[in-house]
Amino acid sequence: MKAAILHGPRDIRVESARMIAPRAGDVVIRVGMAGLCGTDYRIWTGDRPVSYPRVLGHEFVGTVTEVGAAVKRVRVGDRVAVEPNYSCGVCPLCREGNRNLCLSRSAVGIDVDGCFAETVRVPERCCWPAPPNAANEDLMITEPLAVVVRAVARGGVRAGESAAVVGAGSLGLLALQVLRGRGARVLVVSRTPRRFELARELGAEATRTVAEAPLEETARAFSGREGVDVVLETAGTPEAVAHALALVRPGGRVVLTGLPHEPTPVAFFSVVRREVTLMGSMIYQDEFPEAMRLVAAGTVRTGPLVTHRFALDAIGEAFAAHARPDSIKVALQVS
Ligand SMILES: [Zn+2]
Ligand SMILES: [Zn+2]
Repeated sequence: MKAAILHGPRDIRVESARMIAPRAGDVVIRVGMAGLCGTDYRIWTGDRPVSYPRVLGHEFVGTVTEVGAAVKRVRVGDRVAVEPNYSCGVCPLCREGNRNLCLSRSAVGIDVDGCFAETVRVPERCCWPAPPNAANEDLMITEPLAVVVRAVARGGVRAGESAAVVGAGSLGLLALQVLRGRGARVLVVSRTPRRFELARELGAEATRTVAEAPLEETARAFSGREGVDVVLETAGTPEAVAHALALVRPGGRVVLTGLPHEPTPVAFFSVVRREVTLMGSMIYQDEFPEAMRLVAAGTVRTGPLVTHRFALDAIGEAFAAHARPDSIKVALQVS
């Protein structure tokens, strides 16, 4: 089988690799479509080191081609979306249901080989059966969508509430749609107006750049009160965290999904004084089925987010495309 193997920073080569046999609890999946994201990009550049050689990629949908002896739930021929994180299953966090927080969690495409290959091996428990009426191109986005579904649930968003999404990348544009699906009114805030037309098409009621007017004012005008009820931060920069705090009303909630890699100054005075609930949201626990339901029902449209498509052999071009300002989600059409 062919695999895109990362041998070191920016050194990725499509090579033939050994076919992998499933262990007892594993399945082998023929990758249909895979998405590339910021995490893959940071690993590719060497910003986030992994042990080399490594096959990257963790957002994908595919078809089961082989199952291990102990596999019960999944069958050869099943089309599945894959939850690319698995936890130890035995620590106190796992036993409490907080498997996304497990300290010995393995991430497919980071700690073990991932989906930028013709086939990939994952534990059976990572596989979620795909709804028959949803296309691979839509289901490929299940993983980032599950991240957002969890974040919106963490924010306790109710119908009629006002919400702001900070960041208009793929996570932001998915968050916007999940919030709309919950009946919230949504303001999208971004550094540039580049994606605003698309954001409005996907249901944003208002869009603002961070430079247009003070965000506190924007949030007051949009919500008709002291600020928005809930903010979803998806950009993962220190500025974005500050923007989220500027938008939220006293007593409101801020959910952080972006991972700021730099030190992030936070005005805790305003957090305490305004009783803002500030919470992190990390990947997902059981949000995959809900994410696929939203795609199958058309509540979340993923097609407009896929801006670039490449064959596996052109993976170098795919990474270059990810960095271009016009790209939202880059896809690899593997089989
Ligand atoms: Zn990702
Ligand atoms: Zn654990």
